[in-house]
Amino acid sequence: MSAVTTVDDLIAAGVRGRGVLVRADLNVPLETSGPAPEVTDDGRIRAALPTVRRLLDAGARVVVAAHLGRPKGEPEPRYSLAPVAARMAELLDERVPLAGDVVGDSAKATVSGLADGEVALLENVRFDPRETSKDAGERAELAAELAALVGTDGAFVSDGFGVVHRKQASVYDVGHVLPAYAGDLVLAEVSVLRGLTGDPARPYAVVLGGSKVSDKLGVIDALLPKVDTLLVGGGMCFTFLAARGYDVGDSLVERDMIDECKRLLNEGGSALVLPTDVVAADAFAADAATRVVPAEAIPAGWMGLDIGPDSVRAFTEALEPARTVFWNGPMGVFEMSPFAEGTKQIARAIAGSEAFSVVGGGDSAAAVRTFGLAEESFGHISTGGGASLEYLEGKELPGVAVLEGGGVA
Ligand code: ADP
Ligand code: MG
Repeated sequence: MSAVTTVDDLIAAGVRGRGVLVRADLNVPLETSGPAPEVTDDGRIRAALPTVRRLLDAGARVVVAAHLGRPKGEPEPRYSLAPVAARMAELLDERVPLAGDVVGDSAKATVSGLADGEVALLENVRFDPRETSKDAGERAELAAELAALVGTDGAFVSDGFGVVHRKQASVYDVGHVLPAYAGDLVLAEVSVLRGLTGDPARPYAVVLGGSKVSDKLGVIDALLPKVDTLLVGGGMCFTFLAARGYDVGDSLVERDMIDECKRLLNEGGSALVLPTDVVAADAFAADAATRVVPAEAIPAGWMGLDIGPDSVRAFTEALEPARTVFWNGPMGVFEMSPFAEGTKQIARAIAGSEAFSVVGGGDSAAAVRTFGLAEESFGHISTGGGASLEYLEGKELPGVAVLEGGGVA
């Protein structure tokens, strides 16, 4: 990141009594089957709190904007940030009132009720269709209303790393209206990723998985010339296996990506490593029948839902000499226990490795925590999957770019 102003600068300038709008990424997984929705993994909330805490301690009136899930531009109770506000209150040990809307009467009343050193949360910012609008004018309108909440001497802190790759009103446009500062989380995330793109210690191994190859082709393209080994598992490996001409049965395959995968296989040569066996199931279900089959011969009617034991062994060996590891995307459908082993073993191998390791991706980070692996055994666990991939691809992140020159500060 070139010169940006930070929370240190904001605090040094004096924030007591000033309204500070903080865009945070509080998009956490929820368990909704019980009487009230509950946060099942609060990693992102914890990651957002240091910036909020520092601002509160400096006497700011902190207004947090965030989204949850993918509501369609109107209020939907199941995407309310209420469970997030409750968890924030517990973790901060402060009252965290939640406005009933984004920039409406409830938001105005909630914000004007704040005393110095107090925090409030706005309701899911994606309840307002202008947040994600393609029309810059509509986004600017919402940005102006968000800015108005914190008043004429207000400030904006961009700390939602998981959304900095989105050109959205509360991420990007508001940085043109208020003096804008980089939050602690955004600074830390970008500095780690900068290290990966600069001069990483070698060997440099990357492990990619997750569901869709189309999401990750760009990053594979960008990384292939830079890495020593690229291990591919997860749902995305089947398009590569199909590109090799293998039988992939009913596994997840993106047919229109096969030619691209052929090209990458050619370019990658021996650096691009695919599974040699997979755990196949006769249905996408936790109680499906399962069997381990060779990766080149998945029977019709069966789908690969995890990498197999031979692949785990080969991937683990490939990771051993690595001094830098970047991992994005689970190796299988780890949410169902019969298909969790591949992800668990690879996560363990990375945790046990001497390498500087970076985990990117909401699901990958959640996997690390559900397996009970100590977060300290990883060099860095990123809160942003898409954002970290786009950074590694070399794309500009709008929520960072606006800090680098577009702000009014
Ligand atoms: P991240 O959030 O870490 O970036 P993704 O969102 O790309 O990861 O992918 C995570 C999802 O990929 C998980 O929900 C997982 O169930 C799914 N997945 C992994 N392997 C497979 C597979 N073989 N078939 C279908 N889905 C898969
Ligand atoms: Mg994901």
